[in-house]
Amino acid sequence: MTRGARLVVLGKQGAGKGTQCVRLSHYLAVPHISTGDMLRAAVKAGTEFGQLAKAYMDRGELIPDDVVMGIVEERIAEPDASRGFLLDGFPRTTVQAKALDEMVRPNSLDLVLDLDVPTELVLKRLSSRRVCSTCGANYSLESPPKLNWTCDLCGGEVVQRRDDTETAIRRRLDLYEESTAPLLEFYSERNLLAVVNGVGTPDEVMDRLVKVVEMARDRKK
Ligand code: AMP
Repeated sequence: MTRGARLVVLGKQGAGKGTQCVRLSHYLAVPHISTGDMLRAAVKAGTEFGQLAKAYMDRGELIPDDVVMGIVEERIAEPDASRGFLLDGFPRTTVQAKALDEMVRPNSLDLVLDLDVPTELVLKRLSSRRVCSTCGANYSLESPPKLNWTCDLCGGEVVQRRDDTETAIRRRLDLYEESTAPLLEFYSERNLLAVVNGVGTPDEVMDRLVKVVEMARDRKK
């Protein structure tokens, strides 16, 4: 399963999914598909759809299931995802998880990783999080870009996400408990779930993720 695999990464907002998914997608040689990034790109492009999505996102609310499911179904049908993908931010509800099962048929997912981080820590991380408004790279007040809030990777402006305000953060964490946490049981019942400790440096967490991915591969042999 090292190269080419269908994976989902779950975890609270601020658990480090974005950072780890970029690394894991290189490791696995599959595209990193983040519904949040795709939606933010639509908002930035100012399309009619983007304007609609923005209203939900700014409040920290979820976009309606059928809309997000349509976006993901189209994306995973693209040629670069034919050998697998790493889904970040999707599924977020049981309805989405069931739809994903249908989308990947006759195959199934290979593994669902839950990046586990205590709520107090994600609250701290989210309030200091900063992102590149062009490429989405992650920074924080503790590890800012080298030059004056300009992205090290693409030169874009590094800003605070509009939904990283305290009210929106709390709403998103409540929604996580309500709608997304039940997915842990959904995937555990299907023997697909691996919970990984997300506390530590990015390298430490990546090492843990790789170990779990490799163990799942050995089991499949
Ligand atoms: P994220 O970057 O994953 O935290 O997503 C940012 C925002 O995009 C969320 O707060 C939702 O408004 C929206 N969003 C992203 N993925 C989904 C999804 N799978 N279902 C519904 N809304 C989503």
